Amino acid sequence: MTTPRPLDDLLSQSDIQGKKVFVRADLNVPVTAQGTIRDATRLDRLLPTLEELSQAGARIGILSHFGRPNGTKNAAMSLEPIARALSSILAKQVGFCSDCIGHPAMTGMDNLAAGGLTVLENTRFHAGEEANDAAFIKSLSAPADAFVNDAFSTAHRAHASTEGLARHLPSYAGRSLQRELEALETVLGNPTRPVMAVVGGAKISTKLDLLFNLISKVDTLVIGGGMANTFMAAQGIAIGRSLCEETMFDKVRDILQAAQNSGCEILLPDDVVLAENFAATDSPISCQATQVPEDMMILDAGPLAVSKIKAAIVKSKTLVWNGPLGAFELTPFDEGTKIAAQFAAQQTIAGDLVSVAGGGDTVAALNHADAANGFTYISTAGGAFLEWLEGKTLPAIDTLQHNKLEKRVG
Ligand code: AMP
Repeated sequence: MTTPRPLDDLLSQSDIQGKKVFVRADLNVPVTAQGTIRDATRLDRLLPTLEELSQAGARIGILSHFGRPNGTKNAAMSLEPIARALSSILAKQVGFCSDCIGHPAMTGMDNLAAGGLTVLENTRFHAGEEANDAAFIKSLSAPADAFVNDAFSTAHRAHASTEGLARHLPSYAGRSLQRELEALETVLGNPTRPVMAVVGGAKISTKLDLLFNLISKVDTLVIGGGMANTFMAAQGIAIGRSLCEETMFDKVRDILQAAQNSGCEILLPDDVVLAENFAATDSPISCQATQVPEDMMILDAGPLAVSKIKAAIVKSKTLVWNGPLGAFELTPFDEGTKIAAQFAAQQTIAGDLVSVAGGGDTVAALNHADAANGFTYISTAGGAFLEWLEGKTLPAIDTLQHNKLEKRVG
């Protein structure tokens, strides 16, 4: 992997004091209808970059999108309240500029004292952001001398504030983005073998690229959740009323063939936990995966399947995890995910495993299992994390890594 220029290269510059630095952050935190932040993890992860730049005396402008205002100003999606929340987390004054371009942005940055911080208004209030429009990038880059990208979660989108700025300003990777890249490199770039992947969740159709890419990279692939049903059905096993994607049967056969060709062992559940409906129950039934009654549905991996996953974890040195093994929102169908995830966390804490998880519902499932803290790294990046696991190039990272600085215009 080509490594992007680290933050240290910027911090060690002799003129860092007073330098105007834009940090692309991900302030797109989940909020309640009343505007209260439900989970501030994304803000917490920005602290190292912001604190180090501030201590070095840089003047810091924080850029981010928030929601989907579709290129128009929308007071409900203003970053002003998030700037206040960031200020209390940082225990430092954080200003606010009413626009990310033009006079408010220019004066907001110019008026900062050395070490001062300000949040600029939602970049998506301008259509040029998502269009990665050249004129907009020019206006956006105007107030700053340097650019730090610390928003891995937005790196799969070639937008003006993610990819465009990296072509217009000397650019660096922030601490949180750097950590994310290192974690991904550890599991898929240059992993300690054997490597194992757990892929669960509802549907194969949303994870085809992921499955094909993982097969070419890992030694063992555990298929769980609703996806496992389709794998079994495609092989002629009756799965009752379980979630199933019949249109994916050919793809399943392609996946199994590809796995055989590349020597990747596929683990499907030997036993399963059933219910009559997609609902919590006090009386779950477990049975062998080949014995599912017509009127029942599979909602979790069974005890034998979970033991096999644990045995595979013991044999592995590296684990990458995406998606729950069952309908984890419904008790007791969270059991399989819980036991396997807690075991992975235990092995990680014991120093026997490097474990990285993320994407979709995975963070919620591992938090629910009380296992997330034991993992080596949990990615909150969602789409960007998945695209990386799918083997795709993330445009904002690509530009940053290859330092594609164009001659600055204007
Ligand atoms: P994903 O976002 O693709 O990772 O899927 C997560 C969803 O898969 C969760 O909402 C789970 O309830 C669901 N899921 C997992 N296992 C099953 C299953 N056996 N049947 C139906 N839904 C499932």
